[in-house]
Amino acid sequence: MSSRVKVRIRCRKCGENFVLKGVRSKGRIDTGFRRCLCDNDRDLDVEEVE
Ligand SMILES: [Zn+2]
Repeated sequence: MSSRVKVRIRCRKCGENFVLKGVRSKGRIDTGFRRCLCDNDRDLDVEEVE
């Protein structure tokens, strides 16, 4: 079972924000997001938005 969600990702290094559509399945959200423009791929705040 999966549902479409909107996710806001904020980079903790440079402060850049991304709003992406993702799919939630099995308790995790997959957005296809790889990394920030600053090459940061792990120090991120991920938040589901309406
Ligand atoms: Zn960044």
